[in-house]
Amino acid sequence: MQKNMHEVAFTVDVEQDIPPFLDTWDGMEKGFPALLDVLSKHKVRATLFVTGQTAEKFPELIRKASKDHEIGCHSYAHEEFSALSAENQFKVIQHATKVLTKITGQTPVGFRAPRFMANLDTFAALERAGYLYDSSRVSYKLGQGIGSSKLIEIPNTLPSLFFLRIPAAFSTRIWWVFTNALPVTVLSLHNWELVKMRGARFASRFATGETALRRLDKLLDYLRAKKADFRLMREIAESKLAESRSR
Ligand SMILES: [Zn+2]
Repeated sequence: MQKNMHEVAFTVDVEQDIPPFLDTWDGMEKGFPALLDVLSKHKVRATLFVTGQTAEKFPELIRKASKDHEIGCHSYAHEEFSALSAENQFKVIQHATKVLTKITGQTPVGFRAPRFMANLDTFAALERAGYLYDSSRVSYKLGQGIGSSKLIEIPNTLPSLFFLRIPAAFSTRIWWVFTNALPVTVLSLHNWELVKMRGARFASRFATGETALRRLDKLLDYLRAKKADFRLMREIAESKLAESRSR
């Protein structure tokens, strides 16, 4: 089916600065408000995968963001899920879900594992905790499966490295390739990328701060001009679910 408008999900992992390498929160204190401003300027609704810890530390900011954007779960303290037992994975998800629900007044239905490291136990735990979809997979990484889980899988297609950390002239070209190849493009970035990161390894800190913010602004302009259809991950999952039921 040919669509005129390309679906784009704008997703952000909201957490402490470059976990586990730093223990500062500049990305929350400065990056997150700047991000909300850019999104509101372009009238883009985003899906924010927030750690429970972040929500506890910045409840007002997260509550405010939840009025305009979807809040998903990104673990409690950025745990490495593939290193946890099945039961512990469930406990972490359950605890983070409780924290996010209390702060936003809404139960998250989507999950993204820290560092995209989920396994079959993670999917089972998410299903048990009542989640609708998982977004822990990166589509260019092969060999990962979601098993027999009923969770809707929405893989990431475009990590920030390919659109935020390189000049807009290149990223728009890359975006164009994705647009034509995929039914939906899932852009993902981190709140801390919008703040100049110091003291981290080069791969994490280059082109962060003002540069990233300016490129994000340009990219959203470009996507708006191309009439991209910005969707929440929850909406994409719901329509996938309806599709599978009607089959
Ligand atoms: Zn993360």
